[in-house]
Amino acid sequence: DTQVAKDYINNVFETVKKRNPHEVEFHQAVKEIFDSLVPIFAKQPKYMEHNILERMVEPERVLSFRVPWVDDQGKVQVNRGFRVQFNSAIGPFKGGLRFHPSVNASIIKFLGFEQIFKNSLTGQPIGGGKGGSDFDPKGKSDGEIMRFTQSFMTELCKYIGPDVDVPAGDIGVGAREIGYMFGQYKKIKGAFEAGVLTGKGIGYGGSLARTEATGYGTVYFVQEMLNDKGLEFKGSTVVISGSGNVSIYAIEKASQLGAKVVACSDSNGYIYDENGINLDTVKRLKEVEKKRISEYVNEHPEAQYFEGCSGIWSIPCDIALPCATQNEIDEASAKTLVSNGVKAIGEGANMPSTLEAIDVFLNNGVLFGPAKAANAGGVAVSSLEMAQNSMRLSWTFEEVDAKLHEIMKNIYRNSVIASEEYGHPGNLVVGANIAGFTKVADAMIAQGVI
Ligand code: GLU
Repeated sequence: DTQVAKDYINNVFETVKKRNPHEVEFHQAVKEIFDSLVPIFAKQPKYMEHNILERMVEPERVLSFRVPWVDDQGKVQVNRGFRVQFNSAIGPFKGGLRFHPSVNASIIKFLGFEQIFKNSLTGQPIGGGKGGSDFDPKGKSDGEIMRFTQSFMTELCKYIGPDVDVPAGDIGVGAREIGYMFGQYKKIKGAFEAGVLTGKGIGYGGSLARTEATGYGTVYFVQEMLNDKGLEFKGSTVVISGSGNVSIYAIEKASQLGAKVVACSDSNGYIYDENGINLDTVKRLKEVEKKRISEYVNEHPEAQYFEGCSGIWSIPCDIALPCATQNEIDEASAKTLVSNGVKAIGEGANMPSTLEAIDVFLNNGVLFGPAKAANAGGVAVSSLEMAQNSMRLSWTFEEVDAKLHEIMKNIYRNSVIASEEYGHPGNLVVGANIAGFTKVADAMIAQGVI
């Protein structure tokens, strides 16, 4: 029953805190999942009997390694590399690599833990993992990026493989970094194992529509939420934080669907253009020239630039898509969005809303698409890239995009069904977490205590 389930879950949570002291982001991600799982543990005693939760929160393997490299001045630099191989019950470990100065064990574990459920939700055969480094790519030359990524892969290559663990990009890791890492892996292994990394260039095993997948997927997911309530992107005002890969393609798809996207941001500040931002300018500034978003106003004097990040949530909008980073929407920002009449939130970033912010949205009847569901399009197309690599063929953009769209619809439908079955109709946090959890937990039980 419910109290027994709650006691079990609370006990495991205490163990998590004891075993992983001070890892606040990891605790936050675990708490979000645990709170959602009470109804399923109350209904299905088998999960408690197999002590599934305590097994799930302990990664199968955690790797931490030295990454030495030489900078342009000839100085030897050292960074810390991570790979958390969290769960391989339903497929090889799968998840991105993040290069950002904030990276530490807690961040990688929160991301890796979420990845288990996200990957399960996609319906694809992929387990959960994540990695990265506290290396800061900002301001580094191309040569420095190459030497760093080669050194990173010299160590990581011992632990990955197309049937073992398949990394990809995340913040600070795009096609260029994946390219250098693939080259280094190939050189060391002496074999062209295309499926060892995803997000590769189109000319050597990459998938069309992988670049667009996370942003497009988030918009496809929100489109499903809106349609169910008789709403649509067409004619709506949208705020999308970030200006990286996720944000740019969310802006593109939302605009294609007839929305007006009035703001986006980077880690310094945000731009606001009430007539709708010009995506071509944002793409050129961020993807080609690697400049700050503040430069936008030089070309579009009708737009305004504001320092700082949280101010973007005070812009009135119908739909908000946080596509920058974790905890970018706190309780205060959530309340501002609600009082300005926001109708739907779609999380393109990983864990962009704090637990308090999520409560504000759910308690005020805002449609809320949690990250695990709403941003699963990226890793879903990564899995399609692995499939194409295994078959030694490539699908057209339209084929991949159609499969992505179908996957996002299925994630939405399965999350809604689980939310209804377990007594929280419309709560997609509960629905997505339970739907993602079940498949992994059942696979773990079927495979015995290992
Ligand atoms: N980093 C992305 C995510 O958070 C993509 C991972 C992948 O493609 O493996 O899901």
